[in-house]
Amino acid sequence: MPFEFQGKHVTVAGLGVSGVPAAKVLHGLGARVTVVNDGADERARAQAAELEALGITVRLGDGDTLPDGTELIVTAPGWKPTKPLFTAAGQAGVPVWGDVELAWRLRRPDSAPWLAVTGTNGKTTTVQMLASILKAAGLRTAAVGNIGVSLLDAVTGDEEYDVLAVELSSYQLHWAPSLRAHSAAVLNLAPDHLDWHGSMEAYAADKGRIYEGNRVACVYNVADKATEDLVREADVEEGCRAIGFTLGSPAPSQLGVVDGILVDRAFVENRHKHAQELAEVSDVNPPAPHNIANALAAAALARAFGVPAAAVRDGLRAFTPDAHRIAHVADVDGVAYVDDSKATNTHATEASLAAYESIVWIAGGLAKGATFDELVAGAAKRLRGAVLIGADRALIREALARHAPEVPVVDLERTDTGAMLQAVQEARRLARPGDTVLLAPACASMDMFTNYNQRGDAFAQAVRELGA
Ligand code: ADP
Repeated sequence: MPFEFQGKHVTVAGLGVSGVPAAKVLHGLGARVTVVNDGADERARAQAAELEALGITVRLGDGDTLPDGTELIVTAPGWKPTKPLFTAAGQAGVPVWGDVELAWRLRRPDSAPWLAVTGTNGKTTTVQMLASILKAAGLRTAAVGNIGVSLLDAVTGDEEYDVLAVELSSYQLHWAPSLRAHSAAVLNLAPDHLDWHGSMEAYAADKGRIYEGNRVACVYNVADKATEDLVREADVEEGCRAIGFTLGSPAPSQLGVVDGILVDRAFVENRHKHAQELAEVSDVNPPAPHNIANALAAAALARAFGVPAAAVRDGLRAFTPDAHRIAHVADVDGVAYVDDSKATNTHATEASLAAYESIVWIAGGLAKGATFDELVAGAAKRLRGAVLIGADRALIREALARHAPEVPVVDLERTDTGAMLQAVQEARRLARPGDTVLLAPACASMDMFTNYNQRGDAFAQAVRELGA
């Protein structure tokens, strides 16, 4: 039953990237929209003025009170489920949708199916690879979600699509109860955002929602049993298949790697006897193990949609990763400098460290409650040295002392703008020809930088100064 918006009292929770467009679309559909927002800073006031000019009511500085008469809340995905606004909504029996749920409900009946991707790490990369593969197959598509085109634009805009490659965060999935993808993948599951979800179980359950009602394939990571468990627990359409991806040799109904070739033993005529060659490992950019896993997941979703093998290869070849994701900046004196500033948690950093043999590691920042023992113990034998920066660097220093006492560590106290240059100079001093200096901080950047982009840019700038 399509939801009738005409005359409905809808409260949009949160201005910003999802709230402003949602308010406009709902207003355009005839809803009586009130936007509530916690803050009242300059940006919020400007956004409020823009919406008020259209006749939308905006309440700044009070995101906790449920406006009288609210029949539906459409929330920004980041708002915590424990917020008083949602408690009040629960008591009043008011449904709460996120931006993804809104987009899902607003799509036209004949609109493009969704191939959806979630996971703790690798979402953006995988969705972009997937879009590249779909394009190589001649399909009209876009990478949507946290990247590129917004979901709302994709479903309500004039552009026609055959299929959408959709990135979904655990927050978005939490607020998307009726989403039903054509096929979906959970890339991996490691503790993250637990303060928001309340527990690892709740986090996993929200990620697992992506498989609910899948029609063709639930794609899981063979090396991460938790993802397979989520497939088992999901309620899917009759005939929907569980498809694994692995860096090893694939069993039937899996995609994997054999002798440097990405192969498909799932979407082939006789999967017990045959495998279809898709691409070479060297077609994946960069060919780091975790990124090959991303490519296999993207390939699995594309194959579930019926894409031919050659398009997988062409799409992977055409793909270039976004900035700050294992980006090779330069070689200086036989040492490679790699920017993986996007590695903001230990899980991503573990993948990054596994991609190189001998590393001078630049790490540190805001730990967000993480512990580093497992990460450091796993990487100890690959570390030539470490340079630590940022607020929580002592946590990493202590883990190094416990698990890699022989690794030389430089601890930088300074947090000014020159700190990254000094970090890179110290790393150069520690490195030997053939080594990789890797910025993979395992921490958020906001103690020293505006965001991970700025941190990565500072690193690249420092490397250029070395080479100059
Ligand atoms: P997300 O959108 O999930 O944040 P990205 O593709 O932007 O993912 O990558 C984020 C970080 O995670 C990067 O630093 C990258 O090195 C790392 N990463 C990417 N894919 C994986 C993976 N499959 N497993 C672990 N880490 C990964």
